[in-house]
Amino acid sequence: MESSFIKKSIAAFLGFAIGDAFGATTEFMTKKEIEVKYGKLKSIVGGGWLHLKPGKVTDDTEMSIALARSIVDNKSFSQKIVADYFLKWMQSKPVDIGNTIRFSLINYMKKSKYEADYDESSAGNGALMRSVPVCIYAKGDVDVLKEIALKQAHITHNNKLSDLAVINYCETLNILLTGGSKIQALEKVSKFINEHKIFSFSRYKGENSGYIVDTYKAIMHFYFEGVSFKDTMIETVNNGGDSDTIGALVGALCGATYELNSIPKKWINKLDKNVYKEIMELTVSLCNLRVNIF
Ligand SMILES: [Mg+2]
Repeated sequence: MESSFIKKSIAAFLGFAIGDAFGATTEFMTKKEIEVKYGKLKSIVGGGWLHLKPGKVTDDTEMSIALARSIVDNKSFSQKIVADYFLKWMQSKPVDIGNTIRFSLINYMKKSKYEADYDESSAGNGALMRSVPVCIYAKGDVDVLKEIALKQAHITHNNKLSDLAVINYCETLNILLTGGSKIQALEKVSKFINEHKIFSFSRYKGENSGYIVDTYKAIMHFYFEGVSFKDTMIETVNNGGDSDTIGALVGALCGATYELNSIPKKWINKLDKNVYKEIMELTVSLCNLRVNIF
């Protein structure tokens, strides 16, 4: 694999984990509450409703690592094996887990069904938050990317709005990972919004919930408004709401755009050492593995 793709992939996955660790502090807080408590939060301090140590990540990064690990260990993508890794992760008593994810994985445990039934109400961001490793593994092949992005998504979330956001986010990140510009990314996003107006963020009013439409608007608003990794992440996290997931997904786009040198060294050093090591190792492996889907 081209070295520029590998470099951008490392920055994207690390940016993702850093966004998660940074954003966990302000998760479920309003913008006003954050202002009162922190003025403006500018460093990774942990805490939050999960009482994390600084640099610890949450379910977003842990599930993305589990997904990457399932591909690397088995040298292939298999929906069932990914579901097995998610289940193993759930059984390890993670610090946080979304309701739809818990419900789907319990269902898998009971009925051995590793694809969730279509559900109009499963419109949370829990599938979208696991998109980064599949973008890396697909290595620019958009057909492969769409197939595995949806397969991994449907293990827990089988919903039209979730699918739409997953595909567009993955295609956008893919443009950046393969050397495309922010302008090219914006063209992809604009075309998508023209076809699916519900996702429009041109009049963004601070929506920040875990509802996939709100999450998508927040991600794209902060990513396209920002001009650097650091400032974009600070603005994103200080907007509160589902700030770990939104922060993580913005962090991946920013990592792919501004690359590793733009990520503050302090933030990289704060990130949980094991998570850092795993992301480095898994990303290189995902980049070097030939795609194999079964
Ligand atoms: Mg989380």
